[in-house]
Amino acid sequence: MMDPRRNLPSVSVLLESSGIRALLESAPRPVVVEAVRIVVDQVRERARASPLTDAAWADAIAAEVSVAIRPSLRAVINATGIVLHTNLGRAPVSAAALDAIARVASGYSNLEFDLDSGGRGSRYTHCAALLRELTGAEDALVVNNCAAALVLALNTCADGRDALLSRGELVEIGGSFRVHEIMEKSGARLREVGATNRTHLVDYARAVNMRTGAILKVHRSNFSVHGFVADVSVPALAVLARARAIPLIHDLGSGLLISLADIGLVGEPTAREALDAGASVVVMSGDKLLGGPQAGLVLGEARHIAAMRQNPLARSYRVDKLTLAALEATLALYREPSRAMREIPALALLGTQLTHLRARAFRCLDAWRTSGVEGEIIDTTSTVGAGAFPDVALPSVAVALAGDAERWARTLRQGDPAVVGRVYDGRMLIDFRAVQDESLDPLIAAVMAARDSTA
Ligand SMILES: *Cc1c(COP(=O)(O)O)cnc(C)c1O
Repeated sequence: MMDPRRNLPSVSVLLESSGIRALLESAPRPVVVEAVRIVVDQVRERARASPLTDAAWADAIAAEVSVAIRPSLRAVINATGIVLHTNLGRAPVSAAALDAIARVASGYSNLEFDLDSGGRGSRYTHCAALLRELTGAEDALVVNNCAAALVLALNTCADGRDALLSRGELVEIGGSFRVHEIMEKSGARLREVGATNRTHLVDYARAVNMRTGAILKVHRSNFSVHGFVADVSVPALAVLARARAIPLIHDLGSGLLISLADIGLVGEPTAREALDAGASVVVMSGDKLLGGPQAGLVLGEARHIAAMRQNPLARSYRVDKLTLAALEATLALYREPSRAMREIPALALLGTQLTHLRARAFRCLDAWRTSGVEGEIIDTTSTVGAGAFPDVALPSVAVALAGDAERWARTLRQGDPAVVGRVYDGRMLIDFRAVQDESLDPLIAAVMAARDSTA
């Protein structure tokens, strides 16, 4: 019998076929050539007995091309229920922030140019006034992220000196953020005080000496402790810090600008409350509960902020114009808190009523049933995410899809758009808490497409 592999068309013959010539209109030639090579190799390896039709060659090569030109960073539908999912890019930004990015990014801007004097300006002026207005801080500085803000604050206040930290706050925030490791890199020497479960004011008071550069308070973002525990409040620490003329740095992490008690979320301090409690410097993230772009916000006493602005490290942590544009637009929404709740996607998602979530679930399940996808609507709980409100079980609504959960999860992840859901108790859950309205139709289509490819 003749070896079918010898009948394979050559790469150059395939490139001349009509199906592939059409592909060359929409994709770069080197990408198409590489896709043709890959498919020819695959077919040769499989040593198929029956030759591929022209259409089958074109389909296989088109599929290969679409994988090759697909961007690495792409949109995902978040059906995990976790609103601030760090691996899925944390907070979606508002329409106002997108407009601001577009305005500033497509042309030139006064990023570091003073339009009044015609001289050089500073990028650090752009969000400072709004942050002062919204938080009551004397001054404010925006850097790349909260970790950078913390290093900058520690390096500025306590380089080569001690920074006191309770053993109960030696925490790990995410895979690559451990407070003691960050402190080491900042040049501050970690001076641990107290015990893991209990730290008292006298522990701090005894540890303060000539070498003390700062007292650090780290918000326990992603966990809580119960039982025989004690820690020292910020107001109590502030009294000690002020008496000894030591800056008190409070790493707030998530950083609320307004209370979320109206939507049932209590227990996280706002930035204003943290400052009022007496911290000299508060650092927080821009893309957690604030609902803006990735950024690190430093708020506090003018002399510390001024010193941080002068610190050469600030240059390495500096924030770009797109971030500043998005952050300024986000902050402006907070001037009317009800508008912030409506227009900042993270807050709107956190505040969505269960009846709305249920309506979305019904709408999707109805559509899925028409294509043979079976499922059940269930009440469930999700979390806020990004280490905010760790104790809150956010009520939510999900569709539990019938069928092999792991297979659903894999196929949905590989779809376009990718859908990331939650496998729980052997079932594939599509949780609606973090699904934005504009994602509903793509979600409906993505599940149907996944069903077709697993059928
Ligand atoms: C999230 C968090 C950080 C890190 O913030 P990034 O903006 O990701 O750098 C630091 N500290 C606390 C307490 C946090 O919750």
